[in-house]
Amino acid sequence: MSVEMEAVIGLEVHVQLNTASKLFCGCSTRFGAEPNSQICPVCTGQPGVLPVLNRQAVVSAVRLGVALGCTIRQRSRFARKNYFYPDLPKGYQVSQYDEPIGEHGTLEIWEQGQLTPIRVTRIHLEEDAGKNVHATAATTSMVDLNRAGVPLIEVVSEPDLSSPEQAAAYMRAMRAVVRVLGISDGNMEQGSLRCDANVSVRPKGAEKLGTKAEIKNINSFKFVQKALEYEISRQIAAVQSGETIVQQTRLWDTERGVTKPMRSKEQAHDYRYFPDPDLPPVVVEDDLLAQQTNVLPELPLRRRQRLMQQHQLSDHDAGELTREKELADYFEQAVAAGANPKRCANWIMTELLSRVSDAREVIGVPVTAEALAGLLGLIDSGKVSSKLAKQIWPKMWDSRRSAEQIATEEDLFQQSDASAIEAQIRALLEANPDKVEQYRGGKQKVMGWFVGQVMKATGGKANPSMVNSLLKKSLDE
Ligand code: ADP
Ligand code: ZN
Ligand code: MG
Repeated sequence: MSVEMEAVIGLEVHVQLNTASKLFCGCSTRFGAEPNSQICPVCTGQPGVLPVLNRQAVVSAVRLGVALGCTIRQRSRFARKNYFYPDLPKGYQVSQYDEPIGEHGTLEIWEQGQLTPIRVTRIHLEEDAGKNVHATAATTSMVDLNRAGVPLIEVVSEPDLSSPEQAAAYMRAMRAVVRVLGISDGNMEQGSLRCDANVSVRPKGAEKLGTKAEIKNINSFKFVQKALEYEISRQIAAVQSGETIVQQTRLWDTERGVTKPMRSKEQAHDYRYFPDPDLPPVVVEDDLLAQQTNVLPELPLRRRQRLMQQHQLSDHDAGELTREKELADYFEQAVAAGANPKRCANWIMTELLSRVSDAREVIGVPVTAEALAGLLGLIDSGKVSSKLAKQIWPKMWDSRRSAEQIATEEDLFQQSDASAIEAQIRALLEANPDKVEQYRGGKQKVMGWFVGQVMKATGGKANPSMVNSLLKKSLDE
């Protein structure tokens, strides 16, 4: 008989900081440059040079630590993690070991419309390694050291996640947080956000953790989920057929959709960690800590929850609007200027987003949030129909005039004058006695034709619901 199993997952996320220069030298961190064009004696490990800590990276680490509610260590230390690899010219990576900059935090994830806290064990600063380049046709491999020394923050979670979906939600939450904090672009395709996924299985409800495998270097939300799904079923099948899971580092093979063994898991002592003698302790002054605490923005998922509660938005709409801070700002500015929240959310997600290539560009588009509120207000008061509003909108975009002004100048207000509409209807019915006959003889479909004619005659401006009811009244007389 087989027992029901459950998965336990902990993630180690690497966030590449968006500082202009590297962690210990002045080299540029720009992505996509010519290989080895952004290197110097420090980041290539030449003898006789000394590292100098990039202050901005420390500020970013404090910022993230505060946002995750970590206890910030005001005096932390860099350590050398020793190993050999061609992309690591110094023979060690500068990281933090027993004194990380932050500990005991939480990252909230979004699950079925609710916030679930996931504990964060620690965050620490470290430098990235270079990149080995294996050209397909060549028999040699190359090394590009542009990335060597680029600042990273590693965020280690507790094994609190229990499904691949939760793990993907955790990555999405992390991306949203680092972006709203402005410390990283969180771009997974370019490797600014990567994760190692640790996973084990155990009988459902058991206390004791199973033996884990670590899946290295996953670089998309989809792959986090896929790699974990595969690995969990692999482990469950292994356990159920009586095998013992061995602690392992595995690789996700994107092409075949499987994880495969890379090496047996190294232990911390294999790295011979020791304090870096070239670097003084990292000091976070009271001022810096206080300042970062004071300027902490509202985190995206908190904002999502608030928008749902405050404006009765659906989970979906609130999720879309808080995808980028700029979009949520635009929405809230429009609502503050009087826009109906639901109408405004719809307008932003369709009409506004179709006009920008990136949602962050909405700050600075020709139609301000206040101007949009003006347009939506005209719909609310029945002065224009949604259809007319869609004609006015591009004109606002082109000329920066207000909706009211455009409607006035170009005569685009909705016609809700009953006697004017009735006059149109009367003329129409008189000119088309045959159609009237048909309608009265039971051919209801002619109604649509009448409506169309009135709308046409009024240049689309007649109030459609009035046209409908007045037509019915005249025809049924
Ligand atoms: P290691 O010593 O292998 O580096 P750590 O204890 O530092 O392991 O944990 C690394 C990551 O693995 C953390 O995110 C942690 O939550 C997760 N983790 C630890 N043990 C397990 C386990 N048995 N199953 C799943 N994840 C685990
Ligand atoms: Zn350098
Ligand atoms: Mg560890």
